[in-house]
Amino acid sequence: MHDPSPARRPPAEPIFEELGIVRDPRSLFHQVVEQVLVAADLAALPHHQRIILAQPKNEVMVHFPVLMDDGHHRLFKGYRVQHNNALGPYKGGLRYHHRLALDDVKALAVLMTMKCALAGLPFGGAKGGVKCSPRELSEGELRRVTRRFCSAISHQIGPHYDVPGPDVGTDAQVMAWFADTYAQMTPEHSRQDSLGVVTGKPVGFGGSHGRDKATGQGLVEVLDAMLPELGLDASTISFSVLGYGNVGSWTARLLASRGARLVAVLDHTGAIREDRGIDADALEAHVRRRGGVEGFAEATAIDEASFYGTEVDLLVPAALEQMIDASKAAQIKAAVVAEGANAPTTPEGDAVLMQRGVEVLPAILCNAGGVTVSYFEWVQNRTATWWSAEEVDRRLRGHMHAAVERVKVARRRHDCDLRTAAFAAACARIGEVYSLRGVFP
Ligand code: NAD
Repeated sequence: MHDPSPARRPPAEPIFEELGIVRDPRSLFHQVVEQVLVAADLAALPHHQRIILAQPKNEVMVHFPVLMDDGHHRLFKGYRVQHNNALGPYKGGLRYHHRLALDDVKALAVLMTMKCALAGLPFGGAKGGVKCSPRELSEGELRRVTRRFCSAISHQIGPHYDVPGPDVGTDAQVMAWFADTYAQMTPEHSRQDSLGVVTGKPVGFGGSHGRDKATGQGLVEVLDAMLPELGLDASTISFSVLGYGNVGSWTARLLASRGARLVAVLDHTGAIREDRGIDADALEAHVRRRGGVEGFAEATAIDEASFYGTEVDLLVPAALEQMIDASKAAQIKAAVVAEGANAPTTPEGDAVLMQRGVEVLPAILCNAGGVTVSYFEWVQNRTATWWSAEEVDRRLRGHMHAAVERVKVARRRHDCDLRTAAFAAACARIGEVYSLRGVFP
């Protein structure tokens, strides 16, 4: 029988109603906010803090023309969504992707707020990017898109206000062009100050040692801390990886270098499998040359269903959002899913995995290594200091293990799944700051 008692309603419902949000089950933003509001409820955040977290503070959308190599001008659409800055400057990646949409950018900005809070960083959350296919742009076009995008949003960002970084479709070179453009647009900043406007820059131009591999390395640290209680050891497991870009290939290479066995990989070009183990370094070199895993000679080509059905200890989704839906979740034959990508599992997929007893290590914990080393880069830029690779590794390990501990404490306190526990720990930290400082005026 329907129970109309308000106490039984899902925590997001009254907030959505109050804010006039018409819930769309396909909206990633709505899904993420719902998960955050469940956690905010457990963390007992007061009402005003919940409505603050339910919407981004600022949503910037820009259109800008770029001269293409063939002589014509093309109009591009760019976004910068700033979700929350209670803990410090907005922080979050820039994505270049042909299907980039405002709803996804808003969702990813919320996740950045949660991730930075969980990782104990003095940053808020943001996300942005340009709707384009970077693989189809020449180097010159990519540079001009980046410079025009930076100039279009240069008044909305800054080393003390909003600090973008790399994400899908952008890399250290894009960050270098971005930082240089920002320096040209803001002569009031010193060159050294301007460098801190983005992270993920090349080491020769204000970048930090260890940023490239940081997300994969952070994920391996999480596995080190979490797998033993699941009866597994990161150096002896078999694993498969979905997506073989920055996060997927670094995770695979670092795990393989410990002795773990990479069995199957799926990316946008195809899927491969080799039960005796795939050489993760050779595959990375192949992907760099050929643009994807397709055609890798030392493994057998398989179809998507066989990839998900491959029996492994661990599956690492490291491609795009919402790829593991209910039907994929039903096919997965892994004991543990460690989310390298942001929001790779739909709520329906999550429910199926939980019901099947698959342990899901949530993205805001697993992939926090990237933004953590971005924070190290920002600190080094601001203080004009340079840390060795060993120093970065040591500090990253400390941050990741502290974040794991926060999740474990929240899981014990709230008796919930790890995703909800991670969000609850993040909400508690943001809630504490809001309670201390109050709401202006
Ligand atoms: P990337 O562009 O380097 O790699 C993306 C990978 O996804 C590629 O291997 C691509 O082939 C694969 N892919 C794309 N569409 C696919 C499809 N339809 N089917 C199968 N595979 C597909 O990106 P990245 O930087 O490795 O980021 C991957 C994920 O990790 C994203 O969700 C990103 O937001 C997240 N993330 C990245 C970082 C970072 O430091 N790079 C940090 C935190 C989170």
